[in-house]
Amino acid sequence: MVEERDGHTFDLGPTIITAPYLFEELWALCGKILSDDVKLVAMDPFYQIRFDDGRIFSYSGDINQMRAEVAKFNPADVDGFERYLKISETIYKTAFEDLAAEPFDSLWFTLKCAPNMIKLGGHRTVFGKVSDYFADPSLRTVFSFHPLLIGGNPLTTTAYYCLIAHLERLHGVHFAMGGTGTLVKGMVKLLESQGGEIRYDSEVSAILSSKGKATGVRLAAGEELAADVVISNADAAWTYSNLMDGKPAKRWSKAKVDRQSYSMGLFVWYFGTKTKFDDVYHHMMLLGPRYEGLLKDIFINKKLTDDFSLYLHRPSATDPSLAPEGGDTFYVLSPVPNLDSGMNWEDEGERYRAAIQKRLEDTIMPGLGDALSTSFFYTPKDFETRLLSMKGAAFAMEPNLFQSAWFRPHNRSEEMENLFLVGAGTHPGAGVPGVLSSAKILGKIAPDSSVFRR
Ligand SMILES: Cc1cc2nc3c(=O)[nH]c(=O)nc-3n(C[C@H](O)[C@H](O)[C@H](O)COP(=O)(O)OP(=O)(O)OC[C@H]3O[C@@H](n4cnc5c(N)ncnc54)[C@H](O)[C@@H]3O)c2cc1C
Repeated sequence: MVEERDGHTFDLGPTIITAPYLFEELWALCGKILSDDVKLVAMDPFYQIRFDDGRIFSYSGDINQMRAEVAKFNPADVDGFERYLKISETIYKTAFEDLAAEPFDSLWFTLKCAPNMIKLGGHRTVFGKVSDYFADPSLRTVFSFHPLLIGGNPLTTTAYYCLIAHLERLHGVHFAMGGTGTLVKGMVKLLESQGGEIRYDSEVSAILSSKGKATGVRLAAGEELAADVVISNADAAWTYSNLMDGKPAKRWSKAKVDRQSYSMGLFVWYFGTKTKFDDVYHHMMLLGPRYEGLLKDIFINKKLTDDFSLYLHRPSATDPSLAPEGGDTFYVLSPVPNLDSGMNWEDEGERYRAAIQKRLEDTIMPGLGDALSTSFFYTPKDFETRLLSMKGAAFAMEPNLFQSAWFRPHNRSEEMENLFLVGAGTHPGAGVPGVLSSAKILGKIAPDSSVFRR
């Protein structure tokens, strides 16, 4: 989603595009070329990670630069870094290349994969695995934070997600000129070129069914649309809890859905400035003083604290057209507990935003308050009410071992025939590459369903 305010263009969601080949494949499937519609530029470095004491780790895909960065923090960890890259590559080849686009709707298939996945350390956590290779606490942070990009707690997320380091190195980290909204516009054009039609502002309130088969959807406005096949891109947990039209889900009962652990929430402050902040890199992680303690507060204690860590995005650093002349466009995102915290965001939102502004002013954006030209924010409550995400979680169910693959809501629904799920809440999980892989899975399971062959 994109919001235009006072001459600033804000992408409300994803900004970091990894595995662009998945988009290229999608365009090629429709006989088109991605670069005709969207210009992706490679980021170098991928991002800067700023520690609370002011040290900066410049994270890139260049092996020599990365060796030098690691050595800057702890020379003794360079060897571990090289070994870590190898294990990341091995995990990537199995968990992403071989398995991310497999449906995992058979327990037998899951059991067949299990020994290999355990050998790769799937039963371990990202932080645990990274700690085998790095002794320096700051480097453990640098190489284990990636699950946060898809809503996972590095302390509990399965070590399969160590694959992200290799995925980024292999395919790069990209930004879509014009913002991620340009990719979305490109996908709309692609879909329309294939005869597809999009109904905007049309909330689905129920999936209709007859004799255990999906037959269409009902919109919140009351209109019913008949369909041979229903593919739900809504949050999987929301689909099973709220869209079953009075026929409660059996495997994904409300009680089971409620028992799952959900990814973190996000507080996202979108703001524009009248002046430029040229010292701010396009993608920056601004870490607070704590790492493990902060993660426990967000994911386990569900406690909001003011020693947050932030991801700061300055798209106008790469594409100045996203801000008015002489200004900059930003968003800053803070991982926070999901709505299980019981937090009243109506009361808390502005106070929290101001605390973030102060942190930015005290660190890398002095004078921010006077430079502001526009400002608005989203809290986990907005994720629940506007995007219909269960518990306001920004990345659906948490990607821990027993909520991944076969344990996640299946792409071919277990609840009724001709209902399929795509998106972050189903296999393989959140993040743009995961979501595109879930769409690829439909291509694989489609031939089983005669309705797809029409
Ligand atoms: C702020 C933010 C930043 C992120 N940054 C990155 C990043 O840089 N890189 C990355 O790879 N990933 C990122 N992610 C994660 C990634 O964006 C998501 O995992 C991905 O967009 C999920 O795709 P999806 O199709 O499952 O859901 P969504 O993108 O949320 O799309 C689902 C859509 O369905 C609509 N919907 C829901 N229920 C209904 C209903 N009943 N009727 C009609 N419509 C409905 C929702 O309103 C929404 O528009 C980010 C996520 C957030 C929130």
